[in-house]
Amino acid sequence: MQKSITEIFELQKVHSILLRSTVAAERKEKLRKLRSLIQENEGLIFEALQNDLRKSEFEAALTEVYFVYAEIDFAIKNLSKWVSPRRVSAGLSSLFTKNRIFYEPKGVSLIISPWNYPFQLLIAPLVSAIAAGNCAMLKPSELSPATSSVLLKLINDNFDSREITCFEGGVEVSEALLELPFDHIFFTGSPKIGKVIMAAAARYLSSVTLELGGKSPAIVTEDADLQKAAEKIVWGKFMNSGQTCIAPDYVLIHSSKEQEFLRLASLSIEKLFYKNNTLDKSSYGKIISESHYQRLKSLRDKAVEDGAMIIKGGADSDEDQTIEPVLLSKVSVSSAIMQEEIFGPLLPVITYESVNEAIDFVNQMLKPLALYIFSSSNDVIRDTISQTSAGGTCVNDVVIHISNPNLPFGGIGNNGSGSCHGFFGFKAFSHERAVMFQSKIDFSKIAYPPYPEKKNLLKWLKKIM
Ligand code: NAD
Repeated sequence: MQKSITEIFELQKVHSILLRSTVAAERKEKLRKLRSLIQENEGLIFEALQNDLRKSEFEAALTEVYFVYAEIDFAIKNLSKWVSPRRVSAGLSSLFTKNRIFYEPKGVSLIISPWNYPFQLLIAPLVSAIAAGNCAMLKPSELSPATSSVLLKLINDNFDSREITCFEGGVEVSEALLELPFDHIFFTGSPKIGKVIMAAAARYLSSVTLELGGKSPAIVTEDADLQKAAEKIVWGKFMNSGQTCIAPDYVLIHSSKEQEFLRLASLSIEKLFYKNNTLDKSSYGKIISESHYQRLKSLRDKAVEDGAMIIKGGADSDEDQTIEPVLLSKVSVSSAIMQEEIFGPLLPVITYESVNEAIDFVNQMLKPLALYIFSSSNDVIRDTISQTSAGGTCVNDVVIHISNPNLPFGGIGNNGSGSCHGFFGFKAFSHERAVMFQSKIDFSKIAYPPYPEKKNLLKWLKKIM
């Protein structure tokens, strides 16, 4: 008989104590096992991603499966270094002591993931959880059921449930999981549900990593290479049909370059996503659900009602939930499309007169998860970085900052807190435990009472502090 969520949690709690003392070699072995299992099931994973999102095998390989291999390989290569206690020097008050930071596993973790990169966003945090020596309970999204069911089988048929277990289901399953006192909750999803997660975590003061979303602008300056900017923005925006957390949400372009940018972006859309003037669905995904499809159509239609012009796109296909790439100009900033994360294939292009105006515009909005800058001026790039705040930034490109495991990936404010990937993911599932070893030469007694005898010491301290 299948064990309940609470039973599994209790088993993991006991098992997590055993995992605390596992060494790097044992954790690496688990990561190798995970990698081989994924490799053996690659065909099923690709098929599931095709079913859920019409993701082509190439895109699925690059952004989901091989992304995870890279994360596993990086962890295997560096884990011995990561788990080693870090040496730090002693302070004046702790002279002659030995000081170390130990990376101890947090314990039992919960990983909840969304549907847009349903494989990667569940397994990449799991890699970090395993690397850090945690037990993990996993909850993939109910909106990508084909991938969730492959994940469930892959995990539950091959791992000890006392260590890793996957649960399929919707909100009710998340809610049941969130009743439990996890040692860490790693959530990827919307800011709205991020608040629900944080409130649930607060009950037990569980630590959280929140990987959320928001409106990520691409600022294109007057002196930018427009051809490159247009092609890169189009690629990053319409990949996975715009359903990417760090897709450029909208473009801010200098007014003198607007027309040229729109022309080049239209050509890039043709080049990347059309064949003989017809949308090439082998390279272009579908919208995840009927309700998401309707939301996006209504955002676009409302933008047009509010004065926007459709420069390219606009055709929909109800039978397979496809919205052709849409390029919009003259978009009203008060229209809903500019007030919420778009998360679909609609690209508003807004003009500005000076870079300062573009920076002010970004600063008036909630902090973005990603901010992109296209410019050939180092001064403008430096000023834009220093005068704005964002989860991450890519200069003269989009999206690819996520692919470097040496960089932390995470948000700030409304789009998240904490970070993941590589050492940063390992740290998310670890407690940095301060350990001080007292030496035989021990000065600590000078701090003990009786204090009236310490007048001279106090005088000396006043001089040096
Ligand atoms: P979502 O917040 O609706 O759902 C995410 C997960 O939470 C799902 O597993 C879902 O079952 C669960 N969930 C839904 N309602 C819940 C509730 N009331 N209580 C507990 N759990 C609940 O997000 P989504 O629609 O699946 O994903 C889209 C969002 O995720 C976008 O905002 C996007 O920007 C963001 N996202 C962020 C990243 C990142 O790395 N920062 C990556 C991908 C997606």
